[in-house]
Amino acid sequence: MSKQLVLFCDFDGTITEKDNIVAIMRKFAPPEWQAIADQVLGQKISVRQGVGQMFAMLPSSLRQDIVDYIVAEAAIRPGFADFVRYCEEAGIELLITSGGIDFFVGPILAPFHLKNRIYCNGSDFSGETITITWPHACDTETCSTDCGMCKKKIIRQYPGDKYYRIVIGDSITDLAGAKIADFVIARSLLEQKCAELDLPYKPFATFYDVIDVLQSKAAELNQ
Ligand code: MG
Ligand code: ZN
Repeated sequence: MSKQLVLFCDFDGTITEKDNIVAIMRKFAPPEWQAIADQVLGQKISVRQGVGQMFAMLPSSLRQDIVDYIVAEAAIRPGFADFVRYCEEAGIELLITSGGIDFFVGPILAPFHLKNRIYCNGSDFSGETITITWPHACDTETCSTDCGMCKKKIIRQYPGDKYYRIVIGDSITDLAGAKIADFVIARSLLEQKCAELDLPYKPFATFYDVIDVLQSKAAELNQ
């Protein structure tokens, strides 16, 4: 019996052309956000700490302005709607695994009806400034990275003896998951890392490329 295909698809820089947290900070945060971002990139603080600190600089009253801005600003990578439809028709399980925040990931993805298949961080606007919540934080026995939204933890819920697990992503935050997946579809920095580490992967630029890879994978698995 063949394994079932399950996809773990990143959001920022993968489904959207650019990183939405960076776009939000550029538009709404005081310039100090850049120093926090640098600390995250330099691995001085964790992604969870950095994202929490950056959003804590933004007043909760900005919520609707931020959503309106980012929904208008975010460009969806070509082919995404066809990719969602292809997965549905082919019976491929598609999960969105995002380090983004629910209050903007949800509205950007609303046209694609993926609601209960989105894993991301949460938010609380009851205080003076925005508090990020972490419903999918690392379980510390298996991940020491303090990811915020732990992609590895989600992937582990799909055992390799039943599922053929494919990670789709663009960046360093996809790498831990890519290492434990069966196959990777990668662009940008993740593509470079997959090549360096000799992980099984195919590159992509649009979701039409992703569909092509999936069609040949599905044929392979059904042989
Ligand atoms: Mg990304
Ligand atoms: Zn983790």
